[in-house]
Amino acid sequence: MSQLLDTYGRSIDYLRISITDHCNLNCFYCTPFGGRSMFPHAEILSYEEIIKATEAAVLAGISKVRITGGEPLLRREMIRLCRMLANIQDLKSLALTTNGILLEEMAEPLFDAGIRRINVSLDTLKPERFRKITGSDLLSRVLAGIKKAEEVGLHPIKINTVVMRGINDDEVEDLACLTLKKPYHVRFIELMPTDGWANGDHESLFVPVKEIVKLIKHIDESRLGPAADSFGPARLCTLPGGKGKVGFIAPMTRHFCGSCNRLRLTADGKLRTCLFSKEEIDIKGPLRSGASMEELAGIFRTAADGKPAGHYLQKTDGRKMFGRAMHAIGG
Ligand code: SAM
Repeated sequence: MSQLLDTYGRSIDYLRISITDHCNLNCFYCTPFGGRSMFPHAEILSYEEIIKATEAAVLAGISKVRITGGEPLLRREMIRLCRMLANIQDLKSLALTTNGILLEEMAEPLFDAGIRRINVSLDTLKPERFRKITGSDLLSRVLAGIKKAEEVGLHPIKINTVVMRGINDDEVEDLACLTLKKPYHVRFIELMPTDGWANGDHESLFVPVKEIVKLIKHIDESRLGPAADSFGPARLCTLPGGKGKVGFIAPMTRHFCGSCNRLRLTADGKLRTCLFSKEEIDIKGPLRSGASMEELAGIFRTAADGKPAGHYLQKTDGRKMFGRAMHAIGG
């Protein structure tokens, strides 16, 4: 297997693939000004195109893939795609990020198709709050989905919570305590100033990890480990007597650019070299005009070469940097 190194010596082995920009939730911090505009279906990569792109990525040196969206479970026949991805030789790990709404019915087929690791986004355990954040009353479905995922053997189940001041910061302790009884990883993430918010002002909602840590009894920031593995920039710890882990991800105050190992493929076939950069490299055109596998692998190498050393979010207005809304990137 070849290794994909960028110009700063980082090994790029992880590809996040967004398979749709549609979503069944409407989280206010993920919704762009003026609402969402969706790609027409013809603009979206077909499953066969996604497979070809992934095979080329693997040829270039990618060994881990995460499926994301929009909400990936919404795309028709996505289990067929999972099965095809799981069959790609030399792809060592296949994971999924979901909001969990459709997980109860999909967990078993996902497992059967070869998915082993899932992340579920969950910002609150309170139904009323869930409605405020997401615009939907479906918290109970997310919780049922997490339970089912555990029953079918998906492991580890990572729960991702974006912490926002005055919105859900008073639930950090309760969410962390889920790890006392369950082997989940509950990871708290700093809010990012993404492109075009429908509501809200980043500065007033932002809670730095330093402060999030203090919201949990028995944790002291100095005891947190380094980022655990190349999938997750989370710094982890275990609560006393806990079965799972509590993690903290600080894209704003302690960015992990120095160890960034990822590229992103958007649903409309653009390769992004950094979450916070507008730079995109088209792969849909070459895919549709019959580029060879070696030519497509070359596009991944070019993308790795173009990865910036880091992002400059602290110094610049992030909203100008993303170039598109988060639901159209995949997180
Ligand atoms: N629908 C899937 C889900 O909910 O996990 C996948 C796509 S969603 C865009 C991926 C992640 O991005 C979610 O965990 C969401 O909370 C996160 N996200 C979106 N906007 C964000 C922001 N402004 N700051 C931090 N995380 C954000």
